[in-house]
Amino acid sequence: MIDLNGKRALVTGASRGIGAAIALALAENGADVAFTYQHSAEKAEAVAKRIESVGRRAIAIEADSADPGAIARAVNRAADVLGGIDILVNSAAIGNAGTIADMDMGHYQALMDINVRAPVLYAKAVMPHLGEGGRIVTIGSVLGERVPFPGVTAYAMSKAALNALTRGLSRELGPRGITVNLVQPGPTDTDANPADGAAADFQRSLTSLGRYAEPREIASAVVFLASPAASMITGAILTADGGAIA
Ligand code: NDP
Repeated sequence: MIDLNGKRALVTGASRGIGAAIALALAENGADVAFTYQHSAEKAEAVAKRIESVGRRAIAIEADSADPGAIARAVNRAADVLGGIDILVNSAAIGNAGTIADMDMGHYQALMDINVRAPVLYAKAVMPHLGEGGRIVTIGSVLGERVPFPGVTAYAMSKAALNALTRGLSRELGPRGITVNLVQPGPTDTDANPADGAAADFQRSLTSLGRYAEPREIASAVVFLASPAASMITGAILTADGGAIA
């Protein structure tokens, strides 16, 4: 039984894709939700309306995860407007296509800033707001576990770092009754990795289930970890990949 009534969540990168599904699923289970986006103001507004349509409060915050100042402002605004923060979900990330040999180092830095430094900064800024029962859930990737094709090395590196961040933070925050977990999706049908994209059939062939996930199938794992039902789970890596690394 999942009950998030009275909980206040902050989700990063939730104007589209997996983050949007997470924001909506948290609201459907009772949470008020603040969420960030970078460019997609209209899509963010539509997500906010869907959250409000299930009777919960929604705040869409434009905040570039590459900008530490914007992260601090987003956390303050979410805490002010919602009256506190109980749940942080780090979902915003960017990908890379290309080998290390060909990689532009400016893009490498942006990838590390958005995919690794931002979850660290969000956790750091949210920590003072979290009480007993607080939750941090971060979205990694199955590519942080295994890299079955070339051209995604830097992205895989960024996601592998979240594995250690999760384990370490669970040690740091466990004494305060706060849990910290990682969800690792496999191929999931979003703008970043459409199920009808050029490499989709190959990615499908890697999975046991032979298909892509829908974003809501990742969101349900996040909702569980964010809920009181997962009170004994911390420092855990939950892979939701249809069996891609089975
Ligand atoms: P999408 O590219 O479809 O959506 C990305 C979301 O993050 C958008 O809301 C976007 O905002 C936001 N975002 C991107 N960059 C920034 C930034 N600098 N600051 C703030 N917000 C930002 O991604 P997915 O839904 O596919 O991915 C979500 C998460 O799941 C990521 O962590 C990704 O690595 C992970 N993942 C995805 C998989 C997949 O197959 N789809 C597989 C494994 C992991 P805006 O709309 O404004 O641009």
